Amino acid sequence: MKIDIKSLSFDELKNEIISLGHPSFRASQIFEWLHRHGVSSFGVMSNLSKNLRTRLGDQFEIRCCEIEEKYVSAIDGTVKYLFRLYDGEYIESVIMRYKYGYTICVSSQVGCRMGCTFCASTIAGYKRNLTAGEIESQIHSAQADLGIRISNVVLMGIGEPLDNYENLLRFFENVNSVNGLNISMRSITVSTCGIVERIYDLMEKKIPVTLTVSLHAPNDEIRSRTMPINKKWGIDELIKACRKYADVTKRRVSFEYTLIKGVNDMPDCAKELAQRLKGMLCHVNLIPVNAVLECGNKPSDSESIYKFAEILKKAGINVTIRRTLGSDINASCGQLRRKRNGVK
Ligand code: SAH
Repeated sequence: MKIDIKSLSFDELKNEIISLGHPSFRASQIFEWLHRHGVSSFGVMSNLSKNLRTRLGDQFEIRCCEIEEKYVSAIDGTVKYLFRLYDGEYIESVIMRYKYGYTICVSSQVGCRMGCTFCASTIAGYKRNLTAGEIESQIHSAQADLGIRISNVVLMGIGEPLDNYENLLRFFENVNSVNGLNISMRSITVSTCGIVERIYDLMEKKIPVTLTVSLHAPNDEIRSRTMPINKKWGIDELIKACRKYADVTKRRVSFEYTLIKGVNDMPDCAKELAQRLKGMLCHVNLIPVNAVLECGNKPSDSESIYKFAEILKKAGINVTIRRTLGSDINASCGQLRRKRNGVK
């Protein structure tokens, strides 16, 4: 089995190159090809000798994301890709254009084992983790195809990023490198369904990424019904970790709250949520649920959404209602891959 070279950190790559008998500056050159230019073959590394390129090809492989399908929204230009991985698995990424630049929403796993009842990504279960290189390759493939430079990354595609923690840390290191894509940690958002022990780990590592928590409920009763992770770490423990995260990092935590008609969108839910978040450096993003056929959920009507937002606002909580991008291309994740695999 060849080594997945794009997932090595710079230091690891340097050791590999030195052990092949080449000077360490070659590692810098290779790192730039892989991470700054995002090339997909050793053959194009024109400042390396033919001999070294052949040696690299014998020992390593560059795992890329091949474009299998591409959709462009006629409404707002949002682009969605279905990417094929080296082993025939599929993942999805979405590129959104904002005033301040391009943001990519990347996948972190093939499938997901978190089992949230409203989410398409988890229906067929978990297949495998993405390597650090595969997470990063989504950015390279999109940039090359669109001829753009992506400035922000959100880990909100398929998978639970904190369930793939080691690879996530490697991804952060490589994507942040000045010899690579040079994307600042502050431009990266990690979204989690609430793996509390990893929230503390991130905090202790002082990695200044933005933390977003998929909350979706104001209490254990509702949350445990829709998000199985809540049975392991209840809402009190989760909010405590988020408060600590905000205190220690001085960074605002965002909460995603997907509104499902008749499940979590009642005014009492908003009041209970406001009570829980009181005094915390945070932000709530309200999202009408995207109806996934098999899940049987209905989105809240706009009146309930505005009412929900009003209650939070009156309680002094920062709240926004998410603007829907790419609504004509089914830009929210998980559904393309399922269709492709025919997963039931
Ligand atoms: N596993 C991580 C990363 C996925 S992010 C997490 O849970 O945060 C994807 C976001 O979309 C999460 O907030 C998820 O809860 C939300 N989501 C999933 N299915 C959805 C649906 N049908 N409608 C609206 N939001 C959904």
